[in-house]
Amino acid sequence: MDAVLGLHHITCIAGDPQENVDFYAGVLGLRMVKRSVNQDDPTTYHLFYADAQGSPGTDLTFFPWPQLPPARLGTGLAVEVALAVPEGSLGFWGERLARYGAAVHGLESAFGERRLRLEDPHGLPLALVEVVERAFVPWDESPVPADLQVRGLHGARVWEASLVRTERFLVEVLGFVPAGEEDGWRRYTVAGGGSGCVLDVQEKPLASPGRWGVGGVHHLAWRVRDDQHQQEVRHRVAWAGVSPTPVIDRFWFKSVYFREPGGVLFELATDGPGFAVDEDLERLGTALVLPPWLEGERARIEAALPRLRYPPTLEPVP
Ligand code: ZN
Repeated sequence: MDAVLGLHHITCIAGDPQENVDFYAGVLGLRMVKRSVNQDDPTTYHLFYADAQGSPGTDLTFFPWPQLPPARLGTGLAVEVALAVPEGSLGFWGERLARYGAAVHGLESAFGERRLRLEDPHGLPLALVEVVERAFVPWDESPVPADLQVRGLHGARVWEASLVRTERFLVEVLGFVPAGEEDGWRRYTVAGGGSGCVLDVQEKPLASPGRWGVGGVHHLAWRVRDDQHQQEVRHRVAWAGVSPTPVIDRFWFKSVYFREPGGVLFELATDGPGFAVDEDLERLGTALVLPPWLEGERARIEAALPRLRYPPTLEPVP
């Protein structure tokens, strides 16, 4: 079976967009690789943070919807996003996060990995996980030195009311393999495992269903090589009785969406063409980029969006 290749991007819901920029580009030092709008709701930004080139597997994206209530963690929802950081860097990160007032929950260990749990300014549960080897493209203008920078998405954690159907789907449709169990979390890996290819699932039969909101994960996108690979996986998804959307052209990649049997929204996203398709690599993220069908409304859209300060200026907590 031609399995998915690991995480492509993760999309979450934020509150105030400037606070989102300040945290992800400022405190975490990621590069904003695209500043666009939600294609279904152009009055809302869609902000993309990644490594210097927006490599697939490094991209965390946000819809800032401050008017929504807070997310409710629950079943059928991703409940944590894990980012890869270099081995031995959690001391640096713990200090840096504290200096800028982030909510840090402390060090722990799981599946042989050292991890630091924290929340972003809008309550999104994050973990920084130390990894040994992880290719990425450092961002020279990051406030974080290259040898300490975030390497990309490491994995995600989801809660499910019932594990059995989700496990079967992950294994038989997407090509994951079970890779152990610890503290009630069952780990699945794909494409040989390793950083960026990890999904941890916890069965929570008594928990309420989760609900999207500020500080929640909207969807997990999995990498497919190209259009043909996407079609192959899409067919398997449809055969499994889950209804995938048609292919939607997101311009920087092509997307297919569906809910896995437990309810988590998944996407299949192609590796190409990438974020430099409509902007110079040097200028990524510095201007508002609109899909062609919205260009005619640029003036009205820009006027409705809040101004963003990027790169951000950060004040340490006294
Ligand atoms: Zn997506």
